[in-house]
Amino acid sequence: MKIDFNKNTDGLVPAIIQDVNTKNVLMLGYMNEEAYKQTVDTKKVTFFSRTKSRLWTKGEESGNFLNLIDIKVDCDNDTLLVSVKPVGPTCHKGTDTCWGEKNTSNFGFLSQLEEIIKDRKENADSKNSYVASLFEKGINKIAQKVGEEAVETVIEAKDNDDNLFLNESADLLFHYLILLKAKGFSLSDIANVLEKRH
Ligand code: AMP
Ligand code: ZN
Ligand code: ZN
Ligand code: ZN
Repeated sequence: MKIDFNKNTDGLVPAIIQDVNTKNVLMLGYMNEEAYKQTVDTKKVTFFSRTKSRLWTKGEESGNFLNLIDIKVDCDNDTLLVSVKPVGPTCHKGTDTCWGEKNTSNFGFLSQLEEIIKDRKENADSKNSYVASLFEKGINKIAQKVGEEAVETVIEAKDNDDNLFLNESADLLFHYLILLKAKGFSLSDIANVLEKRH
């Protein structure tokens, strides 16, 4: 890749860090040629820190690494777009992005629902929460539920009661979101696979 490290006299180019799944911008840093090479070699995003005056691997103290997916250079070779999978919050102040935002996907209410499912998995008691009780029973049980709801959706697709079809479809999608979470994935991972096929 051709990168113009000399347009800025300090040999640094800005690197915009973007989450591969949500497409949100997480932070901005600067790379010199060495930082770029180390990033490509180690697959952990490494900057040249202007305050520390040395190479700085994001996450070296906090463990909140930025795992490299891809680097693109812009139209005139002087700015990098770095696609990553972040481990934990990216900002050292504890927020997901350096602008204080949450790094959530943009699937509207479905993204909200994914957050609720995550909360139930992590915080809820299986006595009070159906979602928590499914997570407690494990992946096999969750996958079985998806299978059942899929069959019910198929059955209702053959009938002509739209209301039943819509409700079984909603059951299917809801349990599918739970299965994705149980497997450690989210809707955005699936959207990515589909996008790559396109
Ligand atoms: P870390 O690289 O996450 O282990 O953090 C080490 C140090 O780097 C922190 O104490 C901050 O001084 C700085 N730092 C970490 N993350 C950021 C960030 N997103 N933007 C600016 N400085 C950061
Ligand atoms: Zn440019
Ligand atoms: Zn920050
Ligand atoms: Zn159902």
